[in-house]
Amino acid sequence: MTRIDIAAELTALGLRRGDIVLLHSSLSSLGHVEGGADALIDAFLDVLGPEGTLVVPTFGALGIVTEHLRARAAAIESCHPRARVAAVGKDAAEICADHWKAETAHGAGTPYTRIAARGGYVCLLGVDQDRNTTLHTVEALLRLPYLKTTSETTFETPEGTVARSWKYFPGPHRDFIGLDRVLRESGKLRIGRIGSAVVRLIRSRDLIDISLEVGRRDPAFVLCDNPNCTDCVLQRAALRQDRFSREHFTPVAAAGLAGRYVPEIVENVRAAGVTGIELDMLEGKPVQALNPDKLAGAIGDFREAGCPVASLRFSAVPNRIESVLEIAAAAAVPRLVLPLSHLAERFLATAVETGITLSFFNIGMAAEAAAELLLDLRKRGLPARFTFNAANFARAGEKPFLHSFRTKVRRFVDQLDVEDCLFDGRPTPLARGNAEVKELISILRCTGFSGPLVLGTGNRPVADLRETVARFDELLQAM
Ligand SMILES: [Zn+2]
Repeated sequence: MTRIDIAAELTALGLRRGDIVLLHSSLSSLGHVEGGADALIDAFLDVLGPEGTLVVPTFGALGIVTEHLRARAAAIESCHPRARVAAVGKDAAEICADHWKAETAHGAGTPYTRIAARGGYVCLLGVDQDRNTTLHTVEALLRLPYLKTTSETTFETPEGTVARSWKYFPGPHRDFIGLDRVLRESGKLRIGRIGSAVVRLIRSRDLIDISLEVGRRDPAFVLCDNPNCTDCVLQRAALRQDRFSREHFTPVAAAGLAGRYVPEIVENVRAAGVTGIELDMLEGKPVQALNPDKLAGAIGDFREAGCPVASLRFSAVPNRIESVLEIAAAAAVPRLVLPLSHLAERFLATAVETGITLSFFNIGMAAEAAAELLLDLRKRGLPARFTFNAANFARAGEKPFLHSFRTKVRRFVDQLDVEDCLFDGRPTPLARGNAEVKELISILRCTGFSGPLVLGTGNRPVADLRETVARFDELLQAM
């Protein structure tokens, strides 16, 4: 390939005098180029003319084309320790000006958006969308919740030494490759060939607008879906946490669904985008079987890891409420969840002075019987709080939403156990059984219910925490 061959191909792709091009390239992909990187740069400058501008990113792993362009006497480089570009041509100075002053490294007030605003192009020459820095512009413009503020950097500027950080900076891994198909199908992406290299050319404005549209529909659009990519698992968790933070209710994970040991539980709860834990099991044992000191230690570990224990849940009615309250007090947990029984009254009377909240869940009980016990508590001036376990009502042969919830126990509910099963008791994925889970979540959501929605250990036979929270999230998004 010669400078003239390359210029002819660029013209054939539609580039004209006066155009602005942000170029990402791999010189070696073209095959042999007579004159090397300089010939490639000159070919672009021949086509763009003195009225045009050629821009290359000069941050990260620099290619030979980048090095040669930036070394030219006419080159201007933007001042930015994390996202700078070099440019040659008429608009170079304006495109590069004050890059470091922008709020973000790639968004408004940066060379990337200025190129779009001037009708410029993005050209990928022998490289794929993963090299397309303008897609970071899209992430920054969307202010995606997984993006982070950079640490503060001290650097030299034309206005002296400056220390600052940038908001909405991209994370360690992302997957831009999948966007290529969307861009191709939009009809805005021109694809050609120069030597052996595939060349892609698109107006930066089109690239940004099309990708913004995709990103608004799916904020995870540039995250990979490899479950073993820790970066993207945590970035997806940040997106989910952001969605959950806009709900009134609090999503909580049952420890027994999240894992056996504290570090494992913490890691899985974090990856799920949930922060609260209902501690029902630890190391394969129900909490009532644990040594109180060990339990208090574990609860301290959860708190330190940023996953506070919201409640302790007992799988069986204890013999002595006093010992259960002692455990909760020692561990500074404000809430206990216990099976509803005729002992509830005594338990509540004992708990009143401790300030610890008790909520009772139905197990092996029809709604009428549960409602009767709860009403009785209320009549005696005791705080009757009910943890609605839809799966257990289905096991009792009732329609949990249409009957149990609506007609009997609704006014007492301060927690929902998000578990599903068939009438015969077999656990199912959420909203695939007879527990009317979707209806219950929907109605609680519509009434501004502010209590916990607990992704319970009862899901374990059909799904782990990751799958359960994904299903839960899917149900919320489909409502
Ligand atoms: Zn990834």
